[in-house]
Amino acid sequence: MPGAGARTDTHCPYCALQCAMTLTVGTGPATSGAAPGPSTSNVSPGPATHAAATHAATTHAATPEIASRDFPTNRGGLCRKGWTSAALLGHPERLTSPLIRNENGELSPASWDTALDLVAARLKATREQHGPDAVGVFGGGGLTNEKAYQLGKFARVALGTSRIDYNGRFCMASAAAAGNRAFGVDRGLPFPMEDLDSAHTILLLGSNVAETMPPFVQHLQGARNSGGLVVVDPRRTATADFTADGAGLHLQPVPATDLPLLLGLAHIVIHEGLADKEYLASRTSGYAGVVRSVAPWWPEHTSRITGVPVTLLRETARLLAAGTRNGGTYILSGRGVEQHVDGTDTATAAINLALLLGLPGSAHSGYGTLTGQGNGQGGREHGQKADQLPGYRKITDPAARAHVARVWGIPEAAIPGPGLPAVELLASLGQPGGVRAFLVHGANPAVSAPDSARVAAGLRALDLLVVCDFFLSETAALADVVLPVLQWAEEDGTVTNLEGRVLRRRAAVSPPSGARSELWIMAELARRLGSPGTFSPDPEQVFTELRAASAGGLADYSGIDYPLLDSGEAAYWPFPAGSTGTPRLFRERFAHPDGRAVLVPVSPASAGSGPGSGLLGHDAGTRDPLFAGATLALATGRLLEHYQTGAQTRRVPELAAARPNARLLIHPATAAARGIADGGPVAVANMRGEVRCTAEFSTAMRLDTVFLPFHFPGLQSANLVTSSATDPVSGMPEFKTSAVTVAPVSAP
Ligand code: SF4
Repeated sequence: MPGAGARTDTHCPYCALQCAMTLTVGTGPATSGAAPGPSTSNVSPGPATHAAATHAATTHAATPEIASRDFPTNRGGLCRKGWTSAALLGHPERLTSPLIRNENGELSPASWDTALDLVAARLKATREQHGPDAVGVFGGGGLTNEKAYQLGKFARVALGTSRIDYNGRFCMASAAAAGNRAFGVDRGLPFPMEDLDSAHTILLLGSNVAETMPPFVQHLQGARNSGGLVVVDPRRTATADFTADGAGLHLQPVPATDLPLLLGLAHIVIHEGLADKEYLASRTSGYAGVVRSVAPWWPEHTSRITGVPVTLLRETARLLAAGTRNGGTYILSGRGVEQHVDGTDTATAAINLALLLGLPGSAHSGYGTLTGQGNGQGGREHGQKADQLPGYRKITDPAARAHVARVWGIPEAAIPGPGLPAVELLASLGQPGGVRAFLVHGANPAVSAPDSARVAAGLRALDLLVVCDFFLSETAALADVVLPVLQWAEEDGTVTNLEGRVLRRRAAVSPPSGARSELWIMAELARRLGSPGTFSPDPEQVFTELRAASAGGLADYSGIDYPLLDSGEAAYWPFPAGSTGTPRLFRERFAHPDGRAVLVPVSPASAGSGPGSGLLGHDAGTRDPLFAGATLALATGRLLEHYQTGAQTRRVPELAAARPNARLLIHPATAAARGIADGGPVAVANMRGEVRCTAEFSTAMRLDTVFLPFHFPGLQSANLVTSSATDPVSGMPEFKTSAVTVAPVSAP
């Protein structure tokens, strides 16, 4: 562990941008106070302004100072969350001892041996009584690569269960599924982020980067300068505001009409002769099918369904094509278009549009999806997903199973088959034939899962709930056993950012004496369970094993090691041993056996519906009826100040002070029609539940749409009203469009 005054280069604990920072452990007295740094702007300036800025955020004497660091993704910028992230370390609410629920129903401290012996004994008993699939595991997209890998192995080898999935199912599953079927592989950005700088046109689909990852905005500047930034979002977000004054276009479609919108744009590209025929002929297959599928989506029809004017549709298509002749065009998608029951088809339509224009794999152009969680990319590559083995291998592929079984030292037949995607896994908790003992690592499904009251009931119905966390999250508060773990700056590891670039996280401070690494916990439990195979508690050893397990897979890390990362070399996967990695994918070929990308025809299940029809997209069994009577479309999403369920950021004083509560964004006219006052208490309700919060008037909202952040628990939890309906291809829940009523109430 570095001593006092030592400087440690590492990366932010939060989002997938993985901004670079340097931590310096102080020697002086405890510090506290307001944060310097870019506290008045979402968009962190570059290093000229802030490279030297430092911030001591909490009252813990060992709290390191944070300095931003120049790095290609953030260029010295950090957002408020990054600047204040040291407040998580040494936080007074840190868990420092295992907790076991006692006979009075309270969580009380216990020794590690007592807690681990109890967990191992009850896991064994559950397996013996109900079979291995009665034990479930739930991981997180914030876990390091080493932990994500070890968790997948632990579930399948030590527990023998197929029932493992992770919260990334709520983030990237549909984009990943679309990328896999079009390109044969899924890497968020298949090019370095810096490539965006020189773009003429960038189409940003459903992503509010100005709030979710502010330093990213620097990479949009080139497109803004050329008037080529196009933002698609029903809400006029901070990102959409960047299109003002000739910097680009903002398209505000009717909620849940992203798929028709993209089909309409493809129709224009084809019918105005803007498609890249040479590229399509030499690098793709499936063109004819897509031509047929977009034929009905003439501009006037698309406009009627989406509410986007024909002129804007045509202007957008022409800007996209113009970019290819003037510096490049990129299409980037985010959760706004992906978190739907037709999320995979919508992401596929975005990819089809990109392929029609000849973008993926071309110089200065491309398609990508913006990963959200800190290790959202690496977390889905190494085995904590229900259907995958390390190296982004399919768990049903016999060759993949044989390879991984060799690395794990077990027979291939001992590796279970595919498990259940997250929503199904959570729905099985405590049910007959379902999961009865559940281990949660780095996730808070009691707040993050759709229809969260039902999930919380499932968690309460379990025979055994074990949660590994460093705070008593809402899920941990329901547990039978809570195991306190280390944080981002307390142990070594790696993460893979949204570009597919593998980065080193480094230990900078000593952890609380009672906390342990999840790697150590898994090793101890595996030993107590008499597991075959080895489970090292050492991150570098685990990474060495991960490299071997990933060798030959799509996400091949075999040529990457800690010394290479420590030398500062950029390491983009695939990085087979002996290679120099792959910053840009698809330059020569796509990952399908014939080297071609596949255009996949897609269409809305209910193409004739539209505003006022009472139903958009899918049938009433999978998507809420909208605009019937008094219902509004509720979209959920993130705020600048908070991350995920807020279990971390709600505990950071500056962030909590800035955004202490959930507020429902609602247009003043929509509110007036319901007798709702600005700042007044409201109930947001549907058949699943009711959220209580305050209203905030915003002319950025459509009249038919309201917005709630998903960072708050209890009665303010947005997921009390979201639907557990999922995309049939990817298992992605419908987070972005729930039908709700909104009414004033006497108290929040
Ligand atoms: Fe951290 Fe993301 Fe903010 Fe960068 S943008 S400082 S990675 S939360």
